[in-house]
Amino acid sequence: MSRFLSGRYAGFEAYTPGEQPQDRKYIKLNTNESPFPPAEKVTLAAAEESKNLNLYSDPECTLLRKAAAGVFGVEPEYILPVNGSDEILNMAFMAFCGKDAPIAYPEISYGFYSVLAGLHGIPAIELPLRSDFTIDHRDYVGLHQNIVIANPNAPTGLCLTLEQVQEIVESNPDNVVIIDEAYVDFGGKSAVRLVSRYHNLLVTRTFSKSHSLAGARLGFGIADPELIADINIIKYSTNPYNVNRMTSAAGVAALDENDYYLTNCGIIARNREYTAQRLREKGFYVTDSKANFLFVKNDVISGGALYSALRDRGILVRHFSNKLMDDFVRISIGTREQMDALLEAVSNILNS
Ligand code: PMP
Repeated sequence: MSRFLSGRYAGFEAYTPGEQPQDRKYIKLNTNESPFPPAEKVTLAAAEESKNLNLYSDPECTLLRKAAAGVFGVEPEYILPVNGSDEILNMAFMAFCGKDAPIAYPEISYGFYSVLAGLHGIPAIELPLRSDFTIDHRDYVGLHQNIVIANPNAPTGLCLTLEQVQEIVESNPDNVVIIDEAYVDFGGKSAVRLVSRYHNLLVTRTFSKSHSLAGARLGFGIADPELIADINIIKYSTNPYNVNRMTSAAGVAALDENDYYLTNCGIIARNREYTAQRLREKGFYVTDSKANFLFVKNDVISGGALYSALRDRGILVRHFSNKLMDDFVRISIGTREQMDALLEAVSNILNS
């Protein structure tokens, strides 16, 4: 740290993204990317649009919003495209939270929430999960605080029902409820259809996982146009051209190829159930994940030791250095071949 860093950030601990090592080829099961490439139309559209990179992108993302509206089943005014869903989370925290407007979220959830709260000096209300890692939705009913919940939750993959989400949103009418649906396409139930009814609901989506575009950085905020206008104050004050031309073109093409991606999500969901079953047979505790990852532990080997042993064998998974999750690793779901390689490596490790 230099002596120039603002005192505001002294001692601040930034988010640690999943590792992206460049030293050798790994089977990458650590950052919940899709193992499937983008549809061909998507790569062609991005390549074609690269010819226009001398020009700024459309700050209103008109075509992208129109295409997304068709798939999400809402009017374009309800949609704000963003540079990955991390960006909308940041902008929403800035727009709706502050020193006197805390944010509540589950104690075990996406690590970015606590980082953003710290970054912006927002008091965080971290609510414990039940011992089986499920969220007790009643903790949030009538809480009268801003709330962010990943549904499915990360890194457990466990879901609230749509009725439970609705009860949370309805019972906190004077606060914003953010439902982070980064993983919803793998088996959750989306709350998008509630946005026209509840003016305090913001649903966030990403194309990083289900739509094979992690490297393009594309996400969406979906909410009542008044909430979108509030978030636009932050967008236009920080990064008006937040979605670049190639990503925008890739996004429009990806929305047009939605069936290809939903088929891939179905394959991943089947690979998830296959892997979960095999791991349970090997004595693992596996949460009932509806996302594109599994959250697993085994009594004979710690999470850290399993992570290292897999890494030595060329397989990357994610281990969180947090005492609540220390026993666990999170395994992203890849192709059947990748999952078979993982299962074989796990067997070798347990038998060694
Ligand atoms: N929400 C959750 C729950 C996530 O796990 C992630 C991925 N790290 C994100 C949001 C952000 O995804 P992205 O910025 O790639 O859209």
